[in-house]
Amino acid sequence: MKLFSNARRILQQYFGFSTFRPGQEAMIKHVLNGQNALALMPTGGGKSLCYQIPGLIMDGTALIISPLISLMKDQVDALNALEISATYINSSLSHAEQRERLDNLQAGLYRFLYIAPERFESREFMDVIRSIPLSLIAFDEAHCISQWGHDFRPSYRSITSTLQQIPNLPVTIALTATATDAVIRDIQQILSITPEDTVNTGFARENLHFQVLKGIDKTDFILQYIQSHEKESGIIYCPTRKVTDRIYQLLDERGLKAARYHAGMSEVARQQAQSDFIQDEATIMVATNAFGMGIDKSNVRYVIHYALPMNLESYYQEAGRAGRDGEPSQCYLLFAAQDIQLQRFLIERSFMDEQNKEREYEKLQAMANYGHTDRCLQQYILAYFGEDVEELRCGRCSNCNDEGEKEDRTREAQMILSCVKRMGERYGATITAQVLKGSKNKRVLELGFDRLSTYNLLPHYTEKTIVNWIHYLLADGYLYIQDPKYLNLALTPKANDVLKGEALVWIRQQAEESQATREFDDE
Ligand code: ADP
Repeated sequence: MKLFSNARRILQQYFGFSTFRPGQEAMIKHVLNGQNALALMPTGGGKSLCYQIPGLIMDGTALIISPLISLMKDQVDALNALEISATYINSSLSHAEQRERLDNLQAGLYRFLYIAPERFESREFMDVIRSIPLSLIAFDEAHCISQWGHDFRPSYRSITSTLQQIPNLPVTIALTATATDAVIRDIQQILSITPEDTVNTGFARENLHFQVLKGIDKTDFILQYIQSHEKESGIIYCPTRKVTDRIYQLLDERGLKAARYHAGMSEVARQQAQSDFIQDEATIMVATNAFGMGIDKSNVRYVIHYALPMNLESYYQEAGRAGRDGEPSQCYLLFAAQDIQLQRFLIERSFMDEQNKEREYEKLQAMANYGHTDRCLQQYILAYFGEDVEELRCGRCSNCNDEGEKEDRTREAQMILSCVKRMGERYGATITAQVLKGSKNKRVLELGFDRLSTYNLLPHYTEKTIVNWIHYLLADGYLYIQDPKYLNLALTPKANDVLKGEALVWIRQQAEESQATREFDDE
């Protein structure tokens, strides 16, 4: 196919690469054939070339819709550096500058135009778009189009109806590095993309080493880690602005080259921090989740999460900012079970309706389970995104490398599961552990749980060990939280196999968590 041999030539001539990365070739072929297509590729997988190469081959201007302004400028600068005509139009420009770029667009001077979704609401813009030849429309970060996504933007979705009104609608391409099955189906339906035109390379990141660290002093860990990796670039994600300020200050006081980024800072200060980090003036970025979307910094060697984020989509996206250059990189989650309370509070306080809140609680639970599971962490993440990876052992994560012996805990698991059942599947982890431990706690006695046959079945273990086992049973799908509001444990069908003696439960010996475990407390 002639068009496609052009693609290979452009890859070499313009971009200086000799071979395509997985998925790129297939995507480019779909687009050149005029078929709407969806790319599901990991961060750093090379999604940009999937629309940049067809955009250079086909006639007309390519529109790239992107949710973040900071991304646009970087992408445009990178293209301009390759002597490819590209620009962006967004609210950071004066009206006169916008007008000038629209005139240039009308005159056909741009191969690529980057825009935010809101731009489609401008009549001035739409008038020009309607009158010029377009090569393609690309939806970057396409998960933003789906209300099942973790970053739904209504303005993204409403573009589709605006687009229906234009006579010169070209081929559409969507790209994302984070999408569950529901999100994928949604994108396909909204943008008329068939499953055959969906290119899925999987989201696995071969160079990332996922690590969950429990029961440590977080500040000590950060200081030690950074002092022994002073030359490396890394990001520390903090749960609040306050923690961000505190960690930043600690590093700054020790003369470490840190920058700071959160929404409480002025736009100018944030821009400065970001460019210091991108240009390696600052090696460490201490930030809230306000930082990072669309940041293309290839040499980030580690991402440390001070506390768990609200869901795995966010976690994978944030941790995935490490190692975009393909070199080995570390992703640490400093896990303390009580951190989940902050996220629960944020969900509770949000303006979401009950149904959405419930969904967010479930996602949060899956995030917490990541901290408790002893499965391969890369496998756990990919399974969450619907990939069939039952057999995967990455060999790099803290679970794959855990030397701790696994022990047959089937008997203890049976006791826990039957206790949950006898308590009517209406209570949380702490009180369940107290009943098994034979506690004379007031609430246990008031509820008459000392009369249950499962009372005092595990007197020789600490309450914390029993709670840990319960967390494990949750993380591995023997138990689930029936009502996220009350955190009550309930049995899954998998639990019944254990109770009937048809399945064994092996649990790795765990270092005791030094911090109180309150996440599944009764309300
Ligand atoms: P993402 O999928 O996260 O959008 P990018 O398109 O930004 O990824 O690409 C990530 C990095 O990989 C960039 O530095 C890019 O130049 C590089 N890259 C993309 N395609 C190839 C290729 N075929 N060969 C080598 N490097 C590539």
